Amino acid sequence: MQHIAQAWKSSNFTNQYLIYGMVDSNAFNWEMVPYKKCRTFIGRAFQQIQVLWRTVFGGVKVSEKEGKNQLKKYELLLSKSAETTEPSDVSSRSDDSFCKDDTIERQWVITGRKVNVLFNYAPIGFGGEKLHFLVVPKQHRETFTDVTQEEYCESLDLTGKLIDHFTTTRKTVKNVYLLNKTGVDAGQTVKHWHLHVIFSTNKAQNFWGRITVIKNILLGSSPLKRDELAKKVGELREELTAIKA
Ligand SMILES: [Zn+2]
Repeated sequence: MQHIAQAWKSSNFTNQYLIYGMVDSNAFNWEMVPYKKCRTFIGRAFQQIQVLWRTVFGGVKVSEKEGKNQLKKYELLLSKSAETTEPSDVSSRSDDSFCKDDTIERQWVITGRKVNVLFNYAPIGFGGEKLHFLVVPKQHRETFTDVTQEEYCESLDLTGKLIDHFTTTRKTVKNVYLLNKTGVDAGQTVKHWHLHVIFSTNKAQNFWGRITVIKNILLGSSPLKRDELAKKVGELREELTAIKA
């Protein structure tokens, strides 16, 4: 996926995209959706609704011929970009909230070697306990292509362990949404790469269930009160102590 992102960037196609996956009892796959640059807030909102709509309800069908052409195009793009995809090592700190010690101190539930798992201070509610986590590299990484292989592997490893843990301890969890956004038009709000891991208690298969998914992902949720957040984080820290990268 980093190769594709790099190819999109170096061919000036786009440097904004959503990476999305849903874990349920069926097969799992990632989807990577490019976003175009928008000049207005309305344009940005419209594009986000359009993409989420297609993600949740199904995309636009392309002909077999078009599919084959795209495949050829990507084989060529990827063979070119393969040599140049060394992620840039821009470490140091920035002024975003995931570079601030007090944010991490307030929200961490697992500390890994290269990444932390935080509890979202404004968890998206798909019912039940509103289990909504953010997997965040300790070093400042702005976009997906800045994340090192080691950080990404650890992020997925911890995500897998979170999913194992909560699907065995919570009978109510039906599926898990994984998403990360690069670029303001794709909806990236904090300029420090992070992976959302959102546990859902409804199957969200009917029309209104799916609409709720779109609404919550787009608009987010209201922040927890300071003491509510502290209590929740304290409980989760204790519960997740056994989980290590
Ligand atoms: Zn940062």
